[in-house]
Amino acid sequence: LDERLPIRGTNDELDQLGTTVNGFLDRIAAYLSQQRIFLADVSHELRSPLTALQATIEVSLLQERSVQDYQNTLDQISQECERLSRLVRQLLLIAESESGRAAVSFTKFQLAEIILPSVEMFYGLAESREIQIYCEPIPTCYLLGNSNQLRQVIHNLLDNAIRYSAEKTTISIVCTQFANEVQIQILDEGCGIPEHELRNVFDRFYRLESSRNRSAEGGTGLGLSICKAIVLAHQGQIEARNRLPSGTEFRFRLPLANHT
Ligand code: ADP
Repeated sequence: LDERLPIRGTNDELDQLGTTVNGFLDRIAAYLSQQRIFLADVSHELRSPLTALQATIEVSLLQERSVQDYQNTLDQISQECERLSRLVRQLLLIAESESGRAAVSFTKFQLAEIILPSVEMFYGLAESREIQIYCEPIPTCYLLGNSNQLRQVIHNLLDNAIRYSAEKTTISIVCTQFANEVQIQILDEGCGIPEHELRNVFDRFYRLESSRNRSAEGGTGLGLSICKAIVLAHQGQIEARNRLPSGTEFRFRLPLANHT
């Protein structure tokens, strides 16, 4: 890939072909370099919980301990296992959204079918923290896509909205239908994201400094990159904005199915 075609100035067509091929080679090289970085990040992320598990088990075996100590150790092990399986689930989602296989199962479905399951699923968790989920009436419109994947987008955004919100706040879901597309907004009143970090949050393994320090939230930094990959695979767009006085808005747009 480091080789470049020698471009000679005698023939315009050859010049152009050489430039095009070299452009492709540059893009392939950039892609491979991204994949290498991703693989290194994945290895690192998988190794951390495994090292923690190993250390916890070794310490526990070496020491004579009470039943309560063993109970605590088992709790720690269970948390690390949960983190590992979440990570593996998310890596599989990334692989699926990148493989193009998801497009095979594109079907036509109503917008509400991807919104309501997540709202119902998170209702109890939100209520336990006195967070209200308010979903405005959903327009009756149809999308063409992989409904499981799009459900995952709403799931990840709502999951984040709850995790990064304080108690007694409100999360709103607003869907607006336009001529050819629908816009879905998930608005929270949580801690917000510093303006200069807004564009980075969709990068794989990116976590704000404040979130990295709060390991209890068990985040992986993959949730939003999965959302972006899925939305792009459906010819949509996604972005994050800050809200005043505090909070974050995630909004994405998806094309409507032709026959509504
Ligand atoms: P994570 O598993 O860490 O939540 P994500 O990819 O879902 O990974 O999010 C990346 C980072 O973006 C999070 O670590 C967090 O710092 C920030 N973030 C995501 N959603 C929100 C939100 N609703 N409010 C504030 N910060 C958020």
